[in-house]
Amino acid sequence: ERTEWGRPTRAVIDLEAVRTNVRNTKEWIGPETELIAVVKADGYGHGAVRVAEAALQAGASMLAVATPEEAVDLREAGLEAEILLLGAAPLPFLEVAAAHNITVTADSARWVRDAAARPEKWPNPLKVHLKLDTGMSRIGMRTGEELLGAWGTAREAGMIVDGVFTHFAKADDEDSGLQRRQEARFRELIGALPEKPRLVHASNSAATYLHPDARFDAVRLGISMYGIPASEHVGRNMPIPLKPALSLESRLVHVKKISRGDTVSYGGTYEAVDDEWIGTIPIGYADGLLRGLGGQEVLVGGRRVPIVGRICMDQCMVRLPGETEPGEPVVLIGRQGDEEITAAEWAARLGTIPYEVVVTLSKRIQRVYP
Ligand code: PLP
Repeated sequence: ERTEWGRPTRAVIDLEAVRTNVRNTKEWIGPETELIAVVKADGYGHGAVRVAEAALQAGASMLAVATPEEAVDLREAGLEAEILLLGAAPLPFLEVAAAHNITVTADSARWVRDAAARPEKWPNPLKVHLKLDTGMSRIGMRTGEELLGAWGTAREAGMIVDGVFTHFAKADDEDSGLQRRQEARFRELIGALPEKPRLVHASNSAATYLHPDARFDAVRLGISMYGIPASEHVGRNMPIPLKPALSLESRLVHVKKISRGDTVSYGGTYEAVDDEWIGTIPIGYADGLLRGLGGQEVLVGGRRVPIVGRICMDQCMVRLPGETEPGEPVVLIGRQGDEEITAAEWAARLGTIPYEVVVTLSKRIQRVYP
């Protein structure tokens, strides 16, 4: 098996952690609220199919993805749960959506008119969720007039308007002004509908925990399902614990002693100040260990050791506290002994968010599910 002869770098995905995060979140939101598992971008880098299965086992009632391809991939993998395509649906996709029972997002009255004009393209009833733009200015309808027009056209054309939803721009922040304005606007808009669709939903992970008033019929849970707080503010205010699902692990493949004045890696930017033990790890920026992570620590023997010199495409070097055997396990994200390195720690170093860290782990890294 590849795990035996391949390079020893892998992302170990703990599906029990995903199930625990889903179960605990279900308990927090209560039995009245459904949980939609967001598995776009290959399950935030964790493997969409495996995460979807785990989330459904733990009580998620529906899946959500960003692209038509992602939706069809889940169906082709044999998943039968309801799937919502969150992004704008290209009109030529509607036939495929209807055939695969994929629910699509109606993001404007114009989209609904265009779709309604070609009913021959969706022989089965087409299920749609109407998307409202309440402050994100991304996709969605902005006015009651547009919403009512879209609702009427969709119903006349025989579409099933099964849901209505919006997305929050700032649910993860201490400053909740925009969040409150978006919630109020959403209530105002859905209040204008002649009848309430089955599923009204708005909350992402941050809102699920910090803004219980915005629960409606369902929450769309992404990042926290993977055990990662949406932001530092969310992390500090979580009502339930989260368990990270992803560990990034490797092994030293080479160890050498270098002398004072020797330099490490491209550009010779790191220079040994003394005799130093340098270990090489088979992971680089082509795997998502971005060059901006130079100086980041990894765990070897339960201790933090720094990456030194520039990160190469496929390899990087660390400064070890002393002579170490090749084959020694390395943890880049995850726990070893009493130490832990989180995706959030990488994100802080890169000046980004942990979402970007996990989705950047490339296809070349084998995902394993122990
Ligand atoms: N809903 C929509 C429309 C999204 O785009 C996303 C992801 O960005 C989510 C829900 C899930 O958000 P989070 O990962 O913060 O839970």
